[in-house]
Amino acid sequence: MNLDTSEALTAVLSTEDSDCREMIGLASTQKTRKHQERSLGTASYVCSACGSTEMFIDHTRGEVICSSCGLVHSDRSIDMGPEWRAFTSDEQNARQRVGGPQDWSKFDQGLTTVIGRQNVDASGRKLSSTRRAEIHRLRKWQIRTKVHSSDKRNLAVAMTELHRISSQLSIPYAIRETSAVIYRKALRKRLTRGRTILGMIAASLYLACRVHYVPRPLEDICDQIHITRKELSLCVRLILRYLNLKIPQANPIAYVHRFGAQLDLPGKATKAAIDILQEAQRQRLTIGKDPKGMAAAAIYVASILTGARRTQLEIARTARVTEVTVRNRYKEMVQKLNISTT
Ligand SMILES: [Zn+2]
Repeated sequence: MNLDTSEALTAVLSTEDSDCREMIGLASTQKTRKHQERSLGTASYVCSACGSTEMFIDHTRGEVICSSCGLVHSDRSIDMGPEWRAFTSDEQNARQRVGGPQDWSKFDQGLTTVIGRQNVDASGRKLSSTRRAEIHRLRKWQIRTKVHSSDKRNLAVAMTELHRISSQLSIPYAIRETSAVIYRKALRKRLTRGRTILGMIAASLYLACRVHYVPRPLEDICDQIHITRKELSLCVRLILRYLNLKIPQANPIAYVHRFGAQLDLPGKATKAAIDILQEAQRQRLTIGKDPKGMAAAAIYVASILTGARRTQLEIARTARVTEVTVRNRYKEMVQKLNISTT
């Protein structure tokens, strides 16, 4: 994956509405944290005595020491870890005071208050029956107030769907997070009106995959979650039109491995297809063309060149494009790149 979560999030978000700025806030704190980690690392120190950049960090003393001359550069590095110690997992559970990280793919970002089910007080004593009834009521209302507006309800359903679909399609966490942000933006701009939740979720997943440079064909997503391609592409276009997203164009090379694996193509043919596509990109043949079609044509050429021939029909079926597309792209490619396939 080319982008990490925070970078992809900032790539997706524009600075228009406050909601987004808040989200970018999240992205930038992640960045600062990363920056801090890096500056604590050995690279940012240059020894004032010998000019070496090789530093040794002594975590127990909190010192940064030059590893060639031994000069102590800092003796005040901050320990970011917990102030308590735990030797067993029971102890760890008992001492932890924080919950999981913030998560955009949970409808409340994982920041909700949960009233425990144990019916004991802080010191572990059982609650009296009147107190227990009171807590029971509180708990019930806590659950009810979590999801109060129709937007929140929509989001709650949508995020559950998102979790289900992304585990079906084995979508990694970072992409799920990005698609959650895209969906939230769509919801805020009222784009979900009159569309199905499933369709909009699928569309934001599809776009998130593209943001992270791991494109999934629309058809792949349709197959898994039983919505029509028409519905899905409509939602995708809707989001693209009204949200100011920077979605990178899908790279045909990203499809080669997927199609190659589906066609049981040998590694050398896949490699050849990638080489062909790189050359095609250099000569600007891929511009404005469907990346799947380009990938399919390159695979076809490569399969002939490497003697692992696959038919146009097989390739077209795998890439979910028409045979005509494969044939046309193939002809252009062979002609413009001067490849002889006979
Ligand atoms: Zn030194």
